[in-house]
Amino acid sequence: MKTRTIIEGATCVLVPLILEDQPVSISSASVFYNPEMELNRDLSVAAIAAFSEIMASRKNLNISDITYVDAFSASGIRGLRIAKEVGLTVTLNDWSKEAYELMKINTKLNSLKDKVNICLENANLLLHKNKYHIVDIDPFGSPTIYLDAASTSAISMLAVTATDTAPLCGAHLNSGIRKYGAVPLNVEYHSEMGLRILLGRIARDLARHEKSMYPLFSHATRHYLRVYLEVQKGVNKSDNCLKNLGFISHCKKCFSRSVHYGLAVHIPEKCKICGHNNNVAGPLWLGNLHDKDFCDSVLMQLSDRELGKKEQAMKIVRLCKNELDVPTFYDQHVLSKKLGISAIPMENLLKELETNGFKASRTHFSGTSFKTNAEIEEILDTLRRFR
Ligand code: SAM
Repeated sequence: MKTRTIIEGATCVLVPLILEDQPVSISSASVFYNPEMELNRDLSVAAIAAFSEIMASRKNLNISDITYVDAFSASGIRGLRIAKEVGLTVTLNDWSKEAYELMKINTKLNSLKDKVNICLENANLLLHKNKYHIVDIDPFGSPTIYLDAASTSAISMLAVTATDTAPLCGAHLNSGIRKYGAVPLNVEYHSEMGLRILLGRIARDLARHEKSMYPLFSHATRHYLRVYLEVQKGVNKSDNCLKNLGFISHCKKCFSRSVHYGLAVHIPEKCKICGHNNNVAGPLWLGNLHDKDFCDSVLMQLSDRELGKKEQAMKIVRLCKNELDVPTFYDQHVLSKKLGISAIPMENLLKELETNGFKASRTHFSGTSFKTNAEIEEILDTLRRFR
């Protein structure tokens, strides 16, 4: 395999050389490396560093006592960054022999042989056999077939990437239903819907192992979703965690939405505002997506580090921190089109909603969207005032 050297953060690794005129894509290369995921990895370094510091002080541990597994390592870049830039004791794993050989070279290149354990296993087997404080799963596509093993393995934190955005967000409905055991809706807030369907799936997987999750930081981009969850063991905690599951009913005619907590819950067939038929999504996670204090710790970690995607990463975390805790968002362009008016500066709209006694915020999901606790009629009235 021909390789080239890349540097991310303070870590240097060899990755397959893909020449522009070669018919090999990133996903068909002998070992996977996607430069576009640097932002995801920069955020991972900061989020895992923030969590590890909190955990070390709570449990009176040294940072190096904390164990982390990168169960789908490929070149090893993600786990090696955690070993080098955070200082955890890391296990790298991939079932590809070529990836395994490259991970060994990359571990040596970073002088991390004492901190890193390298495995050549099916991730499901590895995670069923061993427990780690922090379990990170970053597979191709959907993580669902690994969630049972990841849930049994994770002691304190579970970090999950999902790149199957089409099934999660309702564009491939049946695939979403098969993989996630939930019905998504392809509506204007489909990215948030996808994140909540993913979280709902993980909460149910953890519950089978009598564990609970508490989302610390969750974000969505066009290509993938990523969540960082604090995990705790205990039947009561697990039962309480499941109380955050439920459904969203959505009216495609007037854009009104309602939330319905519970797994066996009555959902009105008709929209409470216009009487049109409701569409229903779920079961999904209706609880918080982020913890504000944790987001602050991640921001501190980001600002203290030299990272290739630092500014972008800080922007995402700031937006997440300030996002209102409501389960859907509105796209101003969609609403303005419905009213036949032009869009207005977001700051003006948020200010007007707040002046009228509502809460309102931007959202990291989309630059043209906002969150508010106002009902659709109140939002439309507010927009009409700018006509
Ligand atoms: N985490 C890597 C990074 O940040 O660059 C990327 C991982 S890549 C998306 C997925 C990797 O998982 C591939 O290298 C593939 O060989 C490996 N893989 C797929 N299924 C696996 C399984 N069941 N067990 C172990 N490795 C697996």
